[in-house]
Amino acid sequence: MKKLLMIGPLLVVFSALAVTTPRARETLSFPGIPVEFVFRSLQPGEVILAELKDNPSVKKLVLQVQDQKYVLSRTVSGAKPFVLIGLDIGLKPQPLVLTVKEEKTDGTVESFQQILTIETKEFPKRRFQVSEAMLNPPPQEQERVRREQELVAAVYRIVTPEWLGAGNFVPPIPDRTAFPNFGQQRIYNKAHTSIHQGVDIAAPWGTPVKASNSGNVVLASSLYLSGRTVIIDHGQGVFSLYCHLSKILVKRGEAIKKGALLGKVGNTGRSTGPHLHWGVKIFNSRVDPFSLVSLPLE
Ligand SMILES: [Zn+2]
Repeated sequence: MKKLLMIGPLLVVFSALAVTTPRARETLSFPGIPVEFVFRSLQPGEVILAELKDNPSVKKLVLQVQDQKYVLSRTVSGAKPFVLIGLDIGLKPQPLVLTVKEEKTDGTVESFQQILTIETKEFPKRRFQVSEAMLNPPPQEQERVRREQELVAAVYRIVTPEWLGAGNFVPPIPDRTAFPNFGQQRIYNKAHTSIHQGVDIAAPWGTPVKASNSGNVVLASSLYLSGRTVIIDHGQGVFSLYCHLSKILVKRGEAIKKGALLGKVGNTGRSTGPHLHWGVKIFNSRVDPFSLVSLPLE
């Protein structure tokens, strides 16, 4: 049987506070394509906002990047249609084909292709020396860990086509600085490696944790590795994840508003000090939550 290596949500000692310097936002559009792309950079872990420009002849537009399709269609509310495209943390620098299929109000369909050039990104590296028990759950817990990983994967597979968010994303603990450890390559005991798939925000035990945007609570459970965990579905394949909570104050199936209290900071699961692990997933892409926060969704 394959040996389970469980080092995903582990937090190991913060040494220094550092501030993530936000990069300026860029806007890109292509001739003939009625979409505007807004992003910090075209790098692994970043999010692209694709907005439909004012163009009354467009009924529906389907964007495809790799295997993932994103649908922009006009709604009765008249709000400007948009989608969020995630560039996975593990994406290699490469030219990425963007396919655009445009359905017009007169029934005609047009297709375009454009290349997005993904740049390299150097993620920080860090070595850790930890006990073997910290790296591998005891045999009697491995079945539980496996079950919980399947549960979380199943939660992410159910996509709500409508957008449930309300404006821009906000950090879940607004007055605390996050460690710039998204994408950190971790090397444990010189042999095991893992990539940190979110950001850590250190805060005292019991600090309120708020929803970074509106949506539905799709998971509110105590898990072996990530401790007390909440996942919010924001629609269109966008999910936010909150781990190691001391207390969960919401229930699965509940609708939650942006800024509403969902739990309190803790040290549950594989964690070595009170902090919040905050992650964002867009379909199968693991992205930097602060990339999402930087985008203008108002
Ligand atoms: Zn973390």
